[in-house]
Amino acid sequence: MTQSVHTPEPAAAPANSVEDFEHNLASIRKRIEVAARKAGRDPASIRLLPVSKTVPEDRLRLAIAAGATFLGENKVQEVARKAESLADIPGLKFSVIGHLQTNKAKYVAKFADEFQALDNLRQAEALQRRLEDEDRQLDVFVQVNTSNEESKFGLDPADVQEFVNQLPQFDRLHVKGLMTLALFSEDKEAVRACFVRLREIRDMLRETAPEGMEIEELSMGMSGDFELAIEEGATVVRVGQGIFGARALPASS
Ligand SMILES: *Cc1c(COP(=O)(O)O)cnc(C)c1O
Repeated sequence: MTQSVHTPEPAAAPANSVEDFEHNLASIRKRIEVAARKAGRDPASIRLLPVSKTVPEDRLRLAIAAGATFLGENKVQEVARKAESLADIPGLKFSVIGHLQTNKAKYVAKFADEFQALDNLRQAEALQRRLEDEDRQLDVFVQVNTSNEESKFGLDPADVQEFVNQLPQFDRLHVKGLMTLALFSEDKEAVRACFVRLREIRDMLRETAPEGMEIEELSMGMSGDFELAIEEGATVVRVGQGIFGARALPASS
C-alpha cells in the first residue's frame, strides 16, 4: 500500500553470509537494548521480529542459521511457499504482518504461527473456520490505523473496543495485542503520536477488554523508527531492511 517517500530508511548493507546476518542481528539487538535502557525498560520485554518479505529462500537459510527463526512476512502466498520449501528446518515460525484477503485465510491457518493484521470480522470468521479444519490455534494482533491515512489498513481507533468485544466467539484466535504502522514522515513527533495512540488504546483495553482476554503486546516500529517505538512501549519491533538490507520498495506493505 503506502510507499515511503521520506528519507531512505537505515538499511543494512546486503547480508550474504551467516556472519553478515549474525552481525546485523547483533547490531539491531544492541540498538534495542540501548533504546530499552534509555526508556527504563527491560530489553527482554521486547521481541525482534525479522521481516523477511521478498528475501529468497537461499538467503533466508543464512539468516535462520544466524538465529532468525521467527520471521515476519506480509504476503500469505509467499509464506506458504517459504514454509513449504523450508519445511526441513525444525522450529521455524512465520508471522503474517500484512493485509489478508478473506479468501486467503487458509494459508494463514495452515502455515502461520501468528497474524498481526486482524482488522475485520469476516477475516476472523474465515480464520476460525480454517483453523478448525487444520485443528490449529493462532496468536493474533488487532491492527489499528493510528495515522488516519486512507491508504492504510487497520481499524479506526474509535472502533477497536467494539471489534475486540466480538472476538471471544472465535476460540481458535488468541488475541495478544495491537499492531500499527506509523505515519511515514520525517516529523518524529507525528510518528511518535501514532505509537502513543496505540499504547493508549492498549491501556484502555486493559480495563475494558472482555474477560479472559489479555491484550498486552504492542507491535510497532520498523527499521526507520523502532527506537522511537520502544520509547513509547513497543513489545514487538518488525525490522526488515536493518537486517536483510534494502528492498526495492522500501516500505511497501
Ligand atoms: C515491510 C514491513 C516492515 C519492515 O519494514 P523495514 O523498513 O524493512 O524495517 C514492518 N512492518 C510491516 C507491516 C511491513 O510490511
